[in-house]
Amino acid sequence: MFITYEEFRDRADRVRAEIAAACVAAGRAPQDVGLLAVTKTQPAAAAEHAARYGLAAVGENRVQEGAEKRAQTGAAVRWELIGHLQSNKAKLAATHFDRVQSVDSGKLLGLLDRAAGELGKVLPVLLQINAGRDPAKFGAELEDAPGLLATALALPHLRVDGLMTIAPLSDDPAVAARTFATLRELRDRLAAETGAPLRELSMGMSGDLAAAIAAGSTLVRVGTALYGARPPAA
Ligand SMILES: *Cc1c(COP(=O)(O)O)cnc(C)c1O
Repeated sequence: MFITYEEFRDRADRVRAEIAAACVAAGRAPQDVGLLAVTKTQPAAAAEHAARYGLAAVGENRVQEGAEKRAQTGAAVRWELIGHLQSNKAKLAATHFDRVQSVDSGKLLGLLDRAAGELGKVLPVLLQINAGRDPAKFGAELEDAPGLLATALALPHLRVDGLMTIAPLSDDPAVAARTFATLRELRDRLAAETGAPLRELSMGMSGDLAAAIAAGSTLVRVGTALYGARPPAA
């Protein structure tokens, strides 16, 4: 049984309170940190709960799953792709998602730009950076970020909103804190060098959102804390 809306609302209230407390601790305004509801592996009702609560966007990590769910529900939310994107799904991603957070190669940038152009739209993207140098994670290497950004900024059908990262899994909270600080520093440096605002810093999940907010996150991606444990992926 999937959670009821009332249960979701209670969980979302708690997540919102945790975000607000982390903002106060960091001397930041709570409205400066967005909450992306991660609906992957959950039924389409997860997006409907999020919309009813007033959340602006949901995150999916598979193109096909996200596209199918979106077609099933009239939920008034934006759909964002947060999972690894294969080249052969670039066109599908550009078609069915409002933003792609997981862009980590020049090849993908080119394919998404071409697809967006064919669709007659400008596709917002984030560059995913492996800021924790985690061999188990996707994302561009830190050293490749300036070149990737330069490529992205030159493409007419993409709009680069900022950067995204996933912290390495670790028992040591300092690992996530260091990863988030690294992404923040990279963003500040790239923004200064290019003049692109790169406003969005998508970092922080259920377990490490306070550390991400302390480091400057503008968007936390939360699944488990909102919906409970995920059913195993199909
Ligand atoms: C699953 C996922 C999340 C949410 O993780 P939780 O720990 O359930 O909050 C956030 N970001 C990405 C990229 C994910 O794949």
